[in-house]
Amino acid sequence: MTRLEDKVMYARGVGPRVAELIAAKGIVTAEDLLYHLPFRYEDRQNPRSLDELKPGEMASVIAEVRGSALLRTKRAPIFEITIGQGRLAMKCMWFNGTYLQGKFQAGQTVAVFGRVEPSRSTSNMKMINPQWELLPDASDDAETRLLEVGRITPVYESLGSRLASRWQRKVIFHLLESMHGAVPECLPAAMIERMGLPSRERSLREVHFPPEGTAMTDLQAAATPAHRRLIFEELFFLELGLELKRRRMRERAGVAFETNAKVREAIREVLPFHPTAAQKRALGEIVSDMKQPSPMRRLLQGDVGSGKTIVALQAMLVAMENGYQAALMAPTEILATQHYLAARKLLERSSRKYRIVLLTGSLDEDRKRHNRGLINRGEAHLVIGTHALIEEKVEFDRLGLIVVDEQHRFGVMQRFKLMKKPRPDGTEWAEPDVLVMTATPIPRTLALSLYGDLDLSVLDELPPGRTPIVTRRVADERADEVWEFVRKQVKLGRQAYIVYPVIEGAKDDQPELDFSADATEASEKAAKPAVRKTTPKGKTAKLFPKAVQEASPNAKLGLKSAVQMYEKLRAGPLNGLRLGLLHGRLDADEKEIIMRRFQRGEIDALVSTTVIEVGVDVPNASVMVIEHAERFGLAQMHQLRGRVGRGAARSYCVLMTGARVSEQAEERLNAMVRTQDGFELAELDLAMRGPGEVFGTRQAGLPDFRVANLVRDRKLLEVAKMEAARFVNAKPDRAEGTEAERARVWTRLKEAWQRKYGLVEAG
Ligand code: ADP
Ligand code: MG
Repeated sequence: MTRLEDKVMYARGVGPRVAELIAAKGIVTAEDLLYHLPFRYEDRQNPRSLDELKPGEMASVIAEVRGSALLRTKRAPIFEITIGQGRLAMKCMWFNGTYLQGKFQAGQTVAVFGRVEPSRSTSNMKMINPQWELLPDASDDAETRLLEVGRITPVYESLGSRLASRWQRKVIFHLLESMHGAVPECLPAAMIERMGLPSRERSLREVHFPPEGTAMTDLQAAATPAHRRLIFEELFFLELGLELKRRRMRERAGVAFETNAKVREAIREVLPFHPTAAQKRALGEIVSDMKQPSPMRRLLQGDVGSGKTIVALQAMLVAMENGYQAALMAPTEILATQHYLAARKLLERSSRKYRIVLLTGSLDEDRKRHNRGLINRGEAHLVIGTHALIEEKVEFDRLGLIVVDEQHRFGVMQRFKLMKKPRPDGTEWAEPDVLVMTATPIPRTLALSLYGDLDLSVLDELPPGRTPIVTRRVADERADEVWEFVRKQVKLGRQAYIVYPVIEGAKDDQPELDFSADATEASEKAAKPAVRKTTPKGKTAKLFPKAVQEASPNAKLGLKSAVQMYEKLRAGPLNGLRLGLLHGRLDADEKEIIMRRFQRGEIDALVSTTVIEVGVDVPNASVMVIEHAERFGLAQMHQLRGRVGRGAARSYCVLMTGARVSEQAEERLNAMVRTQDGFELAELDLAMRGPGEVFGTRQAGLPDFRVANLVRDRKLLEVAKMEAARFVNAKPDRAEGTEAERARVWTRLKEAWQRKYGLVEAG
């Protein structure tokens, strides 16, 4: 009898050598292997007939091998087999298929799976690079035949050479046999009954070996009851852990801020406009957290331009009015400075004498030391800075609230502890509240699991007086018209951004750049690796973890760059305009000077890389031109577009594209033209790239799931969250599980969290 926690090494068909191989893939126990689900299924109950295939569909076909050939073409060798059913035949071909030579003998039975394509030369169909498996024949053992013929057959991702589907089928089949009736249930019976889900054992059996008649569409969509049960199980334990973390945070000692007439008056004095309903709601949620005696951990999410800054500022006023210091951390020096200037301007109206201090890496040592002193003695009330706040070992006197702007790197959270000054008696001050702001629109349910233990406030409304941004796609050949348009706008008193994916182009002195990754990031890194001392830039780039992969062989040719186009535009199409050039290779102060000049209207058009993408606010800018828009990811383009449309003037976003636009890029560009809704674009981005690509996995605190997929299984995630809260809050009784069942849940939770999720801690 095998148990789930037994080493898979001892399972029939495994052994030490194989065990070592698959351990590298994270499969150590029997349970690990059982939760390694098939990634698709083949219907070998009712194989498709060759004459019913339709072009474009994905199909699996079982047929006899008739012959094979290796065709040498100019480009790549093509391996081809002809398969047949009676008088019908079809060709399957594999590019670079030399390795397949000798694998197929005429007369063998083969199952192929792939996209059906019309054949040019004959009326028959063909498949290109299909997946394939030779089916067992009479000489193979009965068991192999049993598992692969005449049934719905699971297909697994290979775990290594010789550990392909056939091997996994057998090992898993035996494992399940050896555990018959002995797989312990890990959820309370009442819960799975309530949800109408099958038991754990039955689910495991059926996801690997679906019973006859299971709908193929359900299987492929992971929507059978067996799948749903395993997905729910995984999500339930995730949500249960998060629920507990939130609870534990509520038990820690924080500052219980007070709000009274005096505090409200302090806010009223400085507020420059009526907050939107969403801003009011968010502030209400934040302040009600701040009044709690436990530390706040809250995420404020709002599309670009939704007005997060003023909400944060009000929260900081609450802290300051309570006699505490507040700190705001921005990802770049430009942004920190912008926040600093804006805060100073706003607080000038106040009758209170707040002292605002800027602390960034590029300040000179004397100034830094001076500012650190002010912070340490409590003479600075509001501190605005970059990560220098952490790196420069700043100790606050009485830090009550930290606001982190545009922050995805939660590693930083633990380090807030460093910012607390020990009290004379050696004890520590209460933990500060933390508010994180992000403009990355993440669907709510996803946000809740990505940022797990953070509570969430959403600004889902833009301040009034905005006119929608007109977005147009323009091919490179019409660049002249675009520059003419920019000139016209400048004549009207407006300003423009012109953005490029790289700093410098194909000049000889440039290192060869890898454009298959995030073009900008790559180029900026390659160009100036040493300037890491002030750190802000890399942090910005990380907001959009992995850029879109776009392998284009001639990418190196003719990619326009900021530096080169700055010169070109200045000498040609935009001659006479006041142009500025901004990119990551400039020093922090140079960047700042240029940005400030642009803000003051002394620059008409700013030629730039994506360094401007986050948070920069110039309401008078009305045109955003993005060259090589096909190279940008959706999130990035959306962020860039958010730089305009901040004033009342009509704004424009021009997406210029080069010659080669991939299908995916096409879809992104169309989406940009179609909608301005950040949430809609985020959904699309997720659908196109998947959560791992969009957020990065571990980095963004996204756990690796074994069976669940956050995008596909969003509904179940919500259910799991509800069930988790219900479970935590319930007294043990029959409805929520017996004492023994609950104990099992806790045990499993510990295991699962320790071993699997390793979620990033917040605070
Ligand atoms: P983001 O959420 O992108 O950080 P900001 O906080 O920079 O947005 O706000 C964008 C712009 O909208 C700023 O110029 C800000 O002054 C303005 N703004 C914010 N809230 C309001 C409001 N309630 N009414 C009018 N303008 C507002
Ligand atoms: Mg902002």
